[in-house]
Amino acid sequence: MASGKPPFDSVEAHATTVYCPHCSAELLVQAQQAGDVVSCPHCNGRFQSPLPQAPAAFPPAGFGGQLHPGVKISVLISGIFNLLAGMFWISTVCGAFIGIPQLVLAIFELVYIAQVDRMSLQDARSQAQLLAVFQIISGMFNLVSLVCGILILAFASSERSV
Ligand SMILES: [Zn+2]
Repeated sequence: MASGKPPFDSVEAHATTVYCPHCSAELLVQAQQAGDVVSCPHCNGRFQSPLPQAPAAFPPAGFGGQLHPGVKISVLISGIFNLLAGMFWISTVCGAFIGIPQLVLAIFELVYIAQVDRMSLQDARSQAQLLAVFQIISGMFNLVSLVCGILILAFASSERSV
């Protein structure tokens, strides 16, 4: 019985599996030996054991990769107002040609809100900017849409340099 050895489970917890660069044998390296030159028990080849892999300091997409919350809010407000304005214009009969494009834009905006959380940041931004262009055009008939369109362009580009 090798009484001096640590219990098996503590070896597992503090050891890293490495591969000998000389004979490709799988070796367990103790955490305190990480970065030290160790010798392979199979071929006696000496090599520097790798340092333990540090957990990523930042999640890959999380560093400056958030869509500005103002984009979503502006699209939502604009979508609601386009819906109301579109219905108002359609009810005036002769204004239906103005109301229908506003209703279509409102539907696209509400679909955008529903899907934005599953989009990549790039898609969320480019689609918001496309919506903003249509909002500014429809802003000739709906001031809220114009304001929201300008806000979306400002918010969508505000974090681009981060
Ligand atoms: Zn070896």
